[in-house]
Amino acid sequence: MSNAKELREKLMMKERKGAATFSPEVLKEADDFAVGYKRFLDNSRTEREAVAYTKKLAEEAGFVAFEQDKKYNPGDRVYIINREKAIGLAVIGKNGTDNGVRLAIAHIDSPRIDLKPNPLYQDGGLALLKSHYYGGIKKYQWTTVPLALHGRVIKLDGTAVDIRVGENDDEECFLITDLLPHLDKEDKPVRKAIDAENMNVLIGSYPFDDSDEKDLIALNVMKLLNDRFGITENDFLSAELTFCPAYKTRDIGFDRSLIGGYGHDDKCCAYPSVMAAIDTKIPECTCITYLTDKEETGSDGNTGMQSDFLRYFIYDLAKADGNEGYRVLSKSKCLSADVNAAFDPSYASAYEAKNCSYVNEGVVISKYTGHGGKYDTSDASAEFMGEIRAMLERDNVKWQIGELGKVDVGGGGTIAKYVANMNVDVVDLGVAVLNMHAPMEVISKPDLYMAYKAFYGLFN
Ligand code: MN
Ligand code: MN
Repeated sequence: MSNAKELREKLMMKERKGAATFSPEVLKEADDFAVGYKRFLDNSRTEREAVAYTKKLAEEAGFVAFEQDKKYNPGDRVYIINREKAIGLAVIGKNGTDNGVRLAIAHIDSPRIDLKPNPLYQDGGLALLKSHYYGGIKKYQWTTVPLALHGRVIKLDGTAVDIRVGENDDEECFLITDLLPHLDKEDKPVRKAIDAENMNVLIGSYPFDDSDEKDLIALNVMKLLNDRFGITENDFLSAELTFCPAYKTRDIGFDRSLIGGYGHDDKCCAYPSVMAAIDTKIPECTCITYLTDKEETGSDGNTGMQSDFLRYFIYDLAKADGNEGYRVLSKSKCLSADVNAAFDPSYASAYEAKNCSYVNEGVVISKYTGHGGKYDTSDASAEFMGEIRAMLERDNVKWQIGELGKVDVGGGGTIAKYVANMNVDVVDLGVAVLNMHAPMEVISKPDLYMAYKAFYGLFN
């Protein structure tokens, strides 16, 4: 008979040991991998910027624009772009689409402060822009932090103007003001602390001249914008402009084990899945990394995961191989690459310690997301969980299971359910994030690297 220690070793789960289980070599590889990631994050504040940067990385790695009805050979590398806000990278496999495709799908939109369509006004000697927040934010976190303006304006003649102001240290930046504590004594629940209609972005205070014309400060700002970008106030009506935190991605902690940055959710899954496609040479099955938009607001719209764009792309690949699109989908497998909430010891009561994810415990698999009694989710089957689990163990990828907090406390969704609806086997797999959806989120370097290894393992 074994004694209890031996038996425990054999039968029970191992205790969590954090980063102690990573070898020095793996930690070094993780640190090196993080360098490219930090650059990606700083260049991908919005989905448009993420698409442009990913396209550049892909082209440098030999990917070319996909052509419909063209016959591709094993090892061929193509990309396809949806309205400059979503991008797919495919590496053609030895068996093409015959046994389905292998998919890693992440999202490249992040919570932020969008401009309203008619944003400019002045009041109290200040020029301001009215905003409409995008995604799930704790509004108080977004006041009094430096913001940069990103986006595109389409002028009446159809010309596009790209705007990116406030990211460089020597550039101006912007900010949403907040009331000083001395005048803010009223006890309010966190959700009511900041009124959305008060989230106005400060953009100037000098008047155009000393005449008696009205709104001279707003006029002056508009003149500066016109001098620099050639736009008028009416051009705001055909624009997508957004304020993002103007924080550079930085190492966190004396040991530099963590990364702080804006938009880890979900670029910390997007970048590893892009690199996994780039590093894949000739896979068995055609593999596709797809970066989608609009996840933070429910995946609606023609650039979100509920659109048929990716489905049509897979149909095109299938057709080129002489296969039926729906049959290819039915044999496909997907990792829905999205983040989970890392346990935060300062807010321990929100989590259920046995079933939440932890920093440095490797990539997180979320069998299901949703809320309440498993509403609004795709719950991955035991069979598919078993398959992914075996794959990760095969490749020495450290992984953990993660539920998003306590049952009935909150909840969340990912794109997994929309992929599942296409009759594809899918499960969520991604990186554990501290203070998700804050202007600066935190992840660990080895967890990021494990995500890369997981996506690479799926493709190869
Ligand atoms: Mn996400
Ligand atoms: Mn999110």
